[in-house]
Amino acid sequence: MEARHVDLDDEAWIESTIFGLHNLVSSGSLNNPTIDTHVIRMDESRIRLAANVFANSHDGIMITDPLGVVVDVNRAYSKITGFPPDELIGRQSNLLTSDHHPVEFRDSLRESLQTKGFWRGEVSNLRKNGKLCTEFMSVSAVYDSIGEVTHFVAIYTDISALKESQRQLEHLAYHDALTGLPNRVLLVDRIQHGLAQATRRKGLVAVCFLDLDDFKPINDLYGHNNGDLVLIEVAQRLKQAVREGDTVARIGGDEFAVLLTDLEGPQDAKTVILRMLDSVARPYSVDSATAVISASIGYTLIPGDDGDPDNLLRHADQAMYVAKEEGRNRIHLFDIEHDQRTRSKRENVSRIKKACQDNEFRLFYQPKVDMRRGKVVGMEALIRWQHPELGLLSPADFLLPLGDHPLLVDIGNWAIREALGQMAKWQAEGHQLPVSVNISGGHLLDPDFVSSLANQLAAFPQLNPRDLQLEILETAALEDVAHVSKVIKKCTELGVQFALDDFGTGYSSLLYLKRLPARTLKIDQSFVRDLLDTPEGADAIVCIQALASAFKRKIVAEGVEFIEQGIVLLRLNCDVVQGYAIARPMPADEVQNWVETYRPDPAWAASLKLPWRRSDFPLLAAEVEQRRWIKIVATAVKREDSELLLSRIRSLQKSSFGHWYYGIAKDRYGSMPEFKKIPDLHMNVYRISAEIGACLSRGEHTQASALLAEQNACSRVLLEGLVTLRKAIVTHTQKPVLPPPSPSFL
Ligand code: C2E
Ligand code: MG
Ligand code: MG
Repeated sequence: MEARHVDLDDEAWIESTIFGLHNLVSSGSLNNPTIDTHVIRMDESRIRLAANVFANSHDGIMITDPLGVVVDVNRAYSKITGFPPDELIGRQSNLLTSDHHPVEFRDSLRESLQTKGFWRGEVSNLRKNGKLCTEFMSVSAVYDSIGEVTHFVAIYTDISALKESQRQLEHLAYHDALTGLPNRVLLVDRIQHGLAQATRRKGLVAVCFLDLDDFKPINDLYGHNNGDLVLIEVAQRLKQAVREGDTVARIGGDEFAVLLTDLEGPQDAKTVILRMLDSVARPYSVDSATAVISASIGYTLIPGDDGDPDNLLRHADQAMYVAKEEGRNRIHLFDIEHDQRTRSKRENVSRIKKACQDNEFRLFYQPKVDMRRGKVVGMEALIRWQHPELGLLSPADFLLPLGDHPLLVDIGNWAIREALGQMAKWQAEGHQLPVSVNISGGHLLDPDFVSSLANQLAAFPQLNPRDLQLEILETAALEDVAHVSKVIKKCTELGVQFALDDFGTGYSSLLYLKRLPARTLKIDQSFVRDLLDTPEGADAIVCIQALASAFKRKIVAEGVEFIEQGIVLLRLNCDVVQGYAIARPMPADEVQNWVETYRPDPAWAASLKLPWRRSDFPLLAAEVEQRRWIKIVATAVKREDSELLLSRIRSLQKSSFGHWYYGIAKDRYGSMPEFKKIPDLHMNVYRISAEIGACLSRGEHTQASALLAEQNACSRVLLEGLVTLRKAIVTHTQKPVLPPPSPSFL
């Protein structure tokens, strides 16, 4: 109904619409003296219309007086709430009849009505039958001409059905239709909450991934309907196995995931997970038969593992695969460290790929010399990575972690191309230098190896392919020796030479020696290191030498750090050597100058004249030992580490040199004055070293540093004494070395 009335002051029509007027009219409210009505025009048909709207509206309508006493309700209101008008009219209304609304909600409704005269929103009210009804409610105040509230009108739309279907839709979106369990979306949400809670309470959380073993045969044997029943049963059993507050979710197919929260420790998690495993493994009755299935469960624990829920689920999934591989029907905890290692390997691989593209690799060259002839016989190309942030990196830093990754093929091809280019450059400048390039065993197995090598060589027709040597690494890991042997033969036909690198390490070297047609054996550094340090050191070299000559192979010794090692190697007929004693690996542009200025150590030529016996090697060992000792003392002082020193100080008599000195040597050279000087010189070094050790252990570092200079001077005198003794022995024995000694002399 519409009521139009004129305000006396400004003679303007004020129009308002109110519902439920039939009651107001009948109750005489319109004669309210506070409304100074000059003209009231009542349009009969519109009154009727309004009354009809009120009566027939599907929305419930309730009208109250300013104090909330119900004036009228329509039919729809009674239908929605179940309360007939006579149980409401004249009584105090209640806009919110359920206890679902917190105090703040009620307060804000009240405040909004008082200040704005309006409120709307969603509410839950109780029907007469006690059931809950969700409604959309709008409440408006009705004012008179002086702004006083005369009535409140509340309109209700019943949205319970809408809410229910919304709830069902939500349930579908967050639950698995078959088992009713939360699905992955809801699980992820729960994990997020679980993690936040665990951080606050400093608790432990486990995320588990469960996959049924051999579920497919159940479907195949008993049909999909029975398969579904088993899945429902599994879901039930899992729910029973976990605690309240934990979440069991179905991820898909026969995969479930479980979130365990509030755990006391890793053992607690294990107990629950084993319980799940056991409960799944109990027999199932399927189609009047009994079926047995099991599960594999992987899990990860937080804290310890980190990352978002998807990451944690992925980790649990990975662990589940391990459980499967280990034989099923078992559990496996995700190995964080192992994962980090593989992740950093992956990152390493992609960084190395980029280094290849960005041309960040370099080849350094280390000379190989023939000590007997005093000549440089070639260079070994050794890769380096000129890392933009980390500087120059060695192969151990970046190749070793690559394992047998196929990227090694690209790197190997790059190294061959680069080395050939460098050889061509040197050749154009007047130096013909053979170069050896390191090739991983896996690279040799690459199907394109031979054709790629042929193409690379064809790009440098001016080079003699014989000057290129390939050093095969990790021969022990080669699986298909017959194939590798064929590859080597084909490459040899191209003219390229081969060497077996690090010979003597790994196992079954003899087999490889026999089957692989490589011309050279590179004796591993470890043998050279042991050469003078252990009594058997020389034996290994002698054996390798014997093998090499039996199979007609050449040998090169690598890792020669001391001239004395070279002397012994020469004596053992191992003439070609490589090592820091000659030169460290150097950039390509330093090579020519080095080759031009290289002079072999005169000690080698001199030693050739000496009738060395195996029993005289300890003298050389003493020299090496002395050079090393100088380094050790310097390191101990630098690190302020007394233990490093004191644990190594031995008296002359107790050292292997001492055994030689006071034994055979005394008999042979005892009369020589150079020989008699040694114990005193050794004693001096020993005394000062012990003093330095004592200073360091007392924390007197300045004193120790001061003594270091004295110790170095004494060491040098001792070294000179030993060298002089060596030279004196040459003259003393006066016998030139005749034909190369055979192993029998040893
Ligand atoms: P390798 O082929 O046995 O090379 C000899 C290694 O010993 C080199 O280390 C060299 O610098 C080092 N060395 C030389 N003389 C001495 C010495 O007197 N004392 C000591 N302690 N070490 C000495 P580097 O350059 O770090 O290379 C290590 C390994 O990396 C090489 O061992 C080789 O197996 C591999 N490598 C080097 N370059 C390449 C390459 O281009 N491709 C592949 N696949 N592997 C490479
Ligand atoms: Mg090598
Ligand atoms: Mg080597």
